[in-house]
Amino acid sequence: MASIGIAGAGLLGRLLAWQLARAGHCVEVFDPAAGPAPSYDGQGAAAFSAAGMLSPLAELDHAEAGIAALGWRSIALWRDIVEQLGAPESFSQRGSLLLAHRSDRGAAERVLARLGRAPAGWPQAQPLDAAALRALEPALQGVAHAWLLPDEAQVQPPAVLAQLQAQAGEGVRWHWGRPVAQVLPGQVLAADGAALRFDWAIDVRGLGARSAALPLRGVRGETVWLHAPAHGLQRPLRLLHPRHTVYLVPRGPDRLFAGASEIESEDRSPVSLRSAVELMAAAHSVLPDLAEARIERLDRNLRPALPDNAPRTEVQPGLLRINGLFRHGWLMAPALVADALAACALASRKTSKELLHA
Ligand SMILES: Cc1cc2nc3c(=O)[nH]c(=O)nc-3n(C[C@H](O)[C@H](O)[C@H](O)COP(=O)(O)OP(=O)(O)OC[C@H]3O[C@@H](n4cnc5c(N)ncnc54)[C@H](O)[C@@H]3O)c2cc1C
Repeated sequence: MASIGIAGAGLLGRLLAWQLARAGHCVEVFDPAAGPAPSYDGQGAAAFSAAGMLSPLAELDHAEAGIAALGWRSIALWRDIVEQLGAPESFSQRGSLLLAHRSDRGAAERVLARLGRAPAGWPQAQPLDAAALRALEPALQGVAHAWLLPDEAQVQPPAVLAQLQAQAGEGVRWHWGRPVAQVLPGQVLAADGAALRFDWAIDVRGLGARSAALPLRGVRGETVWLHAPAHGLQRPLRLLHPRHTVYLVPRGPDRLFAGASEIESEDRSPVSLRSAVELMAAAHSVLPDLAEARIERLDRNLRPALPDNAPRTEVQPGLLRINGLFRHGWLMAPALVADALAACALASRKTSKELLHA
């Protein structure tokens, strides 16, 4: 059994803590947040502000095939994780939709050409005629062009984050209100000056881990949370547009989540009028019944990104760092964590000392 100190209790921190505790390790987690619940003030974990779309195919529009490959693996892993958490309703896999209004067909064709570069054997976008779209999503109206992205999935971020923390059990001690200044091999240096020793130290502080060696930047994302009783939407959808892509994600039968802006800015201040108007106008254009929806929350947060927008995992004896998950954190996290724990041999019960002398 190894002792493990984790800096950061966001998506990666909670997933790691839960998995390591289940593998029998003794885990301590440090985070500046006041407690495990989200604050929705633009300051906490990006993970709480995310849509939770697991869209390897659609993300080929923004990312390399390697990221999509991590995504396909992670979808299978998420299914198992939510089963083990006893929360299967926090995951669904019904595919997702790409939609375009008549005037935006050109923009849609360009996106589809990029998605068409998926390796052979991967699911491909399937065009839907009006009847096929109506059969899948009767609530959608006034949409000229639609494609199904088969096998894509979604998770419910707030529920999964709460379950991972609650079910990590007694193998994990949570230190809330305790920021970490530095993470070194076998050491977590708390901001209050304490130097805490572990067999393994893990740095998953997201943007909080920025340093000369890890030149992270924050990419602002704004979202709208809607109360829309019986909205009828079964799966996530993306509305293509020459200037931006807006997505709408069901959060149970009565709630929808519209997102998200992507702005090269580390501004954590409240959502701008322009973003709110654009997101809500796009959502309303495909689901006219949203006119009577109620706005429950306008949220924003920063996605932690590296210059190449790709994730980075660093393993050395006694130290693991994972960061740069950008807009794909939920899509990639389980596969990245599985690979990292295998590289550290922490999926088993060996300590770093045993590894060093192996
Ligand atoms: C609007 C929006 C929508 C998104 N939608 C999606 C989506 O649909 N699909 C998808 O795959 N991804 C999505 N993402 C991306 C995803 O949320 C991130 O990639 C993911 O949360 C990154 O995980 P992380 O654990 O590295 O960082 P975070 O989740 O940000 O967690 C970092 C943690 O470190 C803590 N921390 C910070 N500083 C310190 C310190 N000094 N000491 C200790 N702890 C510290 C923070 O408090 C936080 O708890 C979205 C993000 C945003 C903002």
